[in-house]
Amino acid sequence: MNTQTQIEIKSFEANPPPPQFAEVVFNLPLKEAFTYTIPPELLGKVRVGMRVLVPFGRRKITGYVVHLPDKWDKPIVLKSIADLPDTGPVVNEEVLVLTKWLAGYYQSSWGEAIRCALPAGLDNKSRDVGYQLIKSVRLASPLPGEKEIERLLKRSPKQKEVFAIVRQKEISVPELQTRIPKSQAALRSLKEKQLVEVFTKKKVREAFVPEDAMTRPFGESLTFTPEQQKIFKQLNLAIEAGKYESFLLHGVTGSGKTEIYIRCIQRVLEMGKTAIMMVPEISLTPQTVERFRQRFGDRVAILHSGLSQTERYLEWKKIHDGKVSIAVGARSAVFAPFKNLGIVVIDEEHDGSYKQDSNPRYHARDTAVMRARSLNAIVIMGSATPSLESTQNTRLGKYQYLSLESRVGERMLPLVSLVDMKEERKKHKNFAMLSGTLRSAIRDRLSRKEQVFLFLNRRGTARFVFCPDCGYVLECAHCSVTLTFHGKEGHLLCHYCNFRARMPGHCVECHGEVIRFSGFGTQKLEEEVKKLFPDARVTRLDRDTTRGRDSFAAMHRNMKAGNIDILIGTQMITKGHDFPNVTLVGVVHADLSLNIPDFRSCERSFQLLTHVAGRAGRGQVPGKVIIQTNNPDHYMFAFVREHDVNAFHEKELKLRQQLNYPPFTRLVAIEVISENESLGQSTAQKLGRALNQQAISGVEILGPSKAALYQIQNKFRWHLILRSQNMQALQGLLVNCRELNDLKSASGGKLKIAIDVDPFNLL
Ligand code: ADP
Ligand code: ZN
Repeated sequence: MNTQTQIEIKSFEANPPPPQFAEVVFNLPLKEAFTYTIPPELLGKVRVGMRVLVPFGRRKITGYVVHLPDKWDKPIVLKSIADLPDTGPVVNEEVLVLTKWLAGYYQSSWGEAIRCALPAGLDNKSRDVGYQLIKSVRLASPLPGEKEIERLLKRSPKQKEVFAIVRQKEISVPELQTRIPKSQAALRSLKEKQLVEVFTKKKVREAFVPEDAMTRPFGESLTFTPEQQKIFKQLNLAIEAGKYESFLLHGVTGSGKTEIYIRCIQRVLEMGKTAIMMVPEISLTPQTVERFRQRFGDRVAILHSGLSQTERYLEWKKIHDGKVSIAVGARSAVFAPFKNLGIVVIDEEHDGSYKQDSNPRYHARDTAVMRARSLNAIVIMGSATPSLESTQNTRLGKYQYLSLESRVGERMLPLVSLVDMKEERKKHKNFAMLSGTLRSAIRDRLSRKEQVFLFLNRRGTARFVFCPDCGYVLECAHCSVTLTFHGKEGHLLCHYCNFRARMPGHCVECHGEVIRFSGFGTQKLEEEVKKLFPDARVTRLDRDTTRGRDSFAAMHRNMKAGNIDILIGTQMITKGHDFPNVTLVGVVHADLSLNIPDFRSCERSFQLLTHVAGRAGRGQVPGKVIIQTNNPDHYMFAFVREHDVNAFHEKELKLRQQLNYPPFTRLVAIEVISENESLGQSTAQKLGRALNQQAISGVEILGPSKAALYQIQNKFRWHLILRSQNMQALQGLLVNCRELNDLKSASGGKLKIAIDVDPFNLL
């Protein structure tokens, strides 16, 4: 090839004709992409993955460019892109592909999926967190002559001073004010004299990351136990092979799983790749963060809901700009825009918070597996109580099963015993919340200066307020949920919609004068405990006491410092804490989660109780767990007592198979929501008929039926459940059912259709 042709090729490559059109998707329930022309001033600037501001109907809205087609040959006149808010793409090609898959699988629109992969504040131009607007001062132009300036400024030394600074270079108003205090008046005069002008500067926000963040040595690591070493060796082989593989790491709390994750992440980083570490939001405590900071310093970006919108954006930008190599975060961390992703770790993989409960209803664990597979990255899912789905996947050979049998340092598992609360009431005439057994155990721990956890998964003081004459139970005016009495504030609260009501003086139904309470919550438990143990230092932790992360951190400090004797709490106390001095855990009412009408309620109760139990006896003293229940004969408790997760899985999987439930089948839940009860019902029935007509063999259609929580916030809810062994068959039905798609896109104020693929919550 001679030089002449080479040059020709080069110049051709340097100047391909810039695309004239852009396909744009929106954060709206619209399946299709919309094509726009690129105006002359933006030619060559629009790239795939960028945000654009475009006319849509009568408004201008933000969309995402997903494709730049070469030509447009339909007889429709196109509108043109109005503006580009950013200088580069906000979504990379790989995340675009991922979100496209996600939208298809979870039945949302592509734009909705892209929106979900971006930090809050990037959706709306007026609330753009990407820029800072800074008031700045620069020289006016044109400037008067030098002599003129001098005469002006002669009699005001302050104005002279300010002018001298601005003359050197433009400066922001806040900075000017720190350099010359009380300079506002001088600045105003200078402006009037037309020597300077004040303008608003748009500055790209940048997060600070020290320059040597990526080259600093890693923090010191612990010496692995032989068991950890064996597992790490196996994982390391997969990491070095650089091929997709998924692992389920099963090990009790305290068995050293996190230590293994950390070392695997370090290996991945050493190979020049990046890592995502996912934890449930509730476990993203300062302690978790501290552990990662200690090992990885400023290589870590932290994504959690306690951050302000701007902080969140800046953490995301660190990842986007390649300034960090690890993202630690909850569900949405699965979208961290890394290049060269080598590993995704999902701790507590069974946790329900990985499933988003609004559109797009994606599961972060399953999305992570999908993403890792396409990138040849490895996935480690860890849990003390793996989900039945993941367990079944290890049996099918989709995930490799790894298990840590013992706790680090030979610490013993706690002794679990049950108290039959029916007996307690019948035989001992004890109608209080704490059984005699639990009371004396608490007394015993207090005398030994040890700490106690009391777990009750219900807030407030009393579940029901009811009339003993007619049996009327007070319910929320907007939801089919009983109201909970909050004693301290003296009002009734709906835990679903926050509806508040005053405590009535008599029965609303029969006007009887006696009102009774039944049931209980953490607040009432706190009162009872304080009465029984007046000298104990009692702290309560639930949604009513923890408004911010600070109260969480404060509780932590006080537990560590030994300033708390008894900690009472909901689910919040079951995760992410390691307090060696807690030697007794009491489960006040174990039946709560068991009585929920959902096929997963038993699995969830087992996980919950196992985790609560895991809080006891992490130090030198073996722990004790006392579980109070009305159903001591329920099969689940035997497995909790024996700490036998595998045997529980065996039993529960058999039941699921008999009943045709996941993981042996796949489900899709279709929810019809309407303020108009009869419209909701007729729509649900119409949909049911349409689906049945369309249905293919191997797909079952259950319902429509009223949802277990039939009325929420004045809206009525109907469920249709589609069931099949084959997800593709279900997906096909969803895509092909015209009625469903018509109703879905017409979804609006009066009627809403929500589709939940692989639903986690069936209430
Ligand atoms: P898990 O994630 O399974 O709950 P962790 O990794 O948090 O377990 O380990 C539990 C505790 O044991 C932590 O305090 C951790 O620092 C400690 N630990 C873990 N591995 C080791 C080890 N090899 N040597 C000493 N201590 C360890
Ligand atoms: Zn309500």
